[in-house]
Amino acid sequence: MTFFEKVLVANRGEIAIRVMRACREMGIETVAIYSDPDRNALHVSYADEAFPVGEAPPAKSYLNIDRIIDVARKTGAEAIHPGYGFLAENAGFARACEENGVTFIGPTSRTIRAMGSKIGAKQMMQAAGVPVVPGTPEGIGNLDDAKGIAAEIGYPVIVKASAGGGGIGMQIVEDEAGLADAIEGARRIAGSAFGDPTLLLEKYLVKPRHVEVQILGDEHGHMVHLYERECSIQRRHQKLVEESPCPIMTEDLRERMTASAIAAAKACNYVNAGTVEFLYAGGEYYFMEMNTRLQVEHTITELVTGVDLVRQQIATAAGEPLEYSQDEISLRGHAIECRINAEDPLNNFQATPGKIVRYRSPGGPGVRLDSGVHMGYAISPYYDSMIAKLCTYGLSRITAIERMRRAISEYVILGVQTTLPLHFALMHNRHFIEGDTHTHFLTEEHIQRSLLRALREEEARMQTLASSLRQTKEVAAISAAVGTYIRSKPRE
Ligand code: ADP
Repeated sequence: MTFFEKVLVANRGEIAIRVMRACREMGIETVAIYSDPDRNALHVSYADEAFPVGEAPPAKSYLNIDRIIDVARKTGAEAIHPGYGFLAENAGFARACEENGVTFIGPTSRTIRAMGSKIGAKQMMQAAGVPVVPGTPEGIGNLDDAKGIAAEIGYPVIVKASAGGGGIGMQIVEDEAGLADAIEGARRIAGSAFGDPTLLLEKYLVKPRHVEVQILGDEHGHMVHLYERECSIQRRHQKLVEESPCPIMTEDLRERMTASAIAAAKACNYVNAGTVEFLYAGGEYYFMEMNTRLQVEHTITELVTGVDLVRQQIATAAGEPLEYSQDEISLRGHAIECRINAEDPLNNFQATPGKIVRYRSPGGPGVRLDSGVHMGYAISPYYDSMIAKLCTYGLSRITAIERMRRAISEYVILGVQTTLPLHFALMHNRHFIEGDTHTHFLTEEHIQRSLLRALREEEARMQTLASSLRQTKEVAAISAAVGTYIRSKPRE
C-alpha cells in the first residue's frame, strides 16, 4: 500500500496524538502545529516536527488556514488531518488544501459544504428515502410561516441554526407565545457563532435517544457501516458518555438504521469516515445530521470492531480501497466512553480551567485512555474543556461498566474539578445500568437525586479507604474533592 510520507495534524491535545499514533504505526512522519501556550504540550513532543501558528485564541492559531497551509508546504507534508473541532468541518479549509495540492484527510469540500447545512442535508436525505425529523423543508421565513408550520407539526418544536454545531443556540419552544423570542434569539446566535442566520424549525422529540451510525467510504465505490453508538447521556445537547452497541438495539432496528445510514452516505457520494446521526423516539428513528469528520467517540467503535478508523481515513485519503468489506466487520463485546472534562457538573457544567497538580492514569484489562494532559499541565480557558477520554471494553456490557467503575477509581486528577465523580455515580445508577436513558437523562430530578446518593457513597468509600490505608496525601485530597462536590447543591 502507498500512503503518505508526511502528514500534518491540524489540531491539538488528545486527538492530535491519536492521529499521530496511527501515522507512526503506518510509518508516516508527523508535523504538529501549536499555539503559544501549547509550546510544551504532549502533541508537540509526540510529533517528528512542530511549528508555531500563533497566539492562544483559536482564530489566531488553530483556525489560521493560511498559516497552517504554509507549514504544510514548508515541511513537505502531503496531507493534513484536521482531527475534530477547529477546521474539521470547514469546507473553506478543505478547499484551500485541495487548491494547494495538499490532501485533506476527510471528505471533499463539496460534501462538507452540502452536509454543513442542516436544511440542505435534510432535503437530500428525504430525497434518498431516509426518515427525517418532521419540520420546515426550507429555512424559517417570516414569523407567520413559522407559526403555521409549528401548528402543523405540533408543539414542542426546536429552532436551530442550519449551519450550527455543538448544540449552540438551539431553542426549544413549548407554545406559540414563545416562538417569536426563540426565533430572534436563535437567529442572533446563528449569525454571530456561525456567520449564517438561516434557521430551521422541527418537531422537538420528547426524551429521544441519540443513536448514530459510523460509516466509511472510499473512492472505489465501497461503503461500509461500523454499527451504531448510543450517545444519549448529554449535557447542554453535548455528549458526555457514549457506548457501542446501543443497549436497546434489536436486529430489525439495526438493519433498518444501518441501511438508512448507508443510503444517506451514498446520497452524497461520501468518501472517508463519517457519522450519520439519528434521533430515536417512539419506536421510530429520524435522520438529524451527518458529521463529516472523525468523531470524538470513534474510540468505542474501534474497540468493538477492531478497525482503526484513523488508519482507514489516511489510507482512503491516499486513494487506497477500504481494508474491510462489510462481511469482515463484526461487532464483538461492548465499549463505553466517559468524557473527562474540566468542568463542574453541579454548577451547570461550568468550565474549570487550571493546573493539574496530581495525575495518575488508570490502566489494566479493557481500558483505553486517550489524553493529552499530564501532571503540571495547565488547562487553558481558550480550548475545549475535555481533558481525556476514558474507554472501557468487555465482552458484556456489565463487564464494561464494572471496568469503568474500577478505572475511574484508579484515575486521579487533582487541582481542577472534573466530571470523574459524576461518571462514577452514573456507572452505579440503576437506570443507566438498565440502559434506560434519553437525551434529558441528566436533567431528570430523580436521576440527579440518585446520582447525589451515589456520590455520598463514594465519599464514604473514600473516607474508609483513607483511614484503613495510611492517609496518603492523594487519598485525602480525593476525599476532600468528592466532599466539596457533594456539598454543592445541584442547580437547574
Ligand atoms: P449540533 O449540530 O449543534 O450538535 P444536532 O442537530 O446534532 O446539533 O443536535 C444535538 C442534540 O440536540 C441531539 O443529540 C439532541 O439531544 C438535541 N436535539 C436536536 N434536535 C432535536 C429534536 N428535533 N428533538 C429533540 N432533541 C433534539
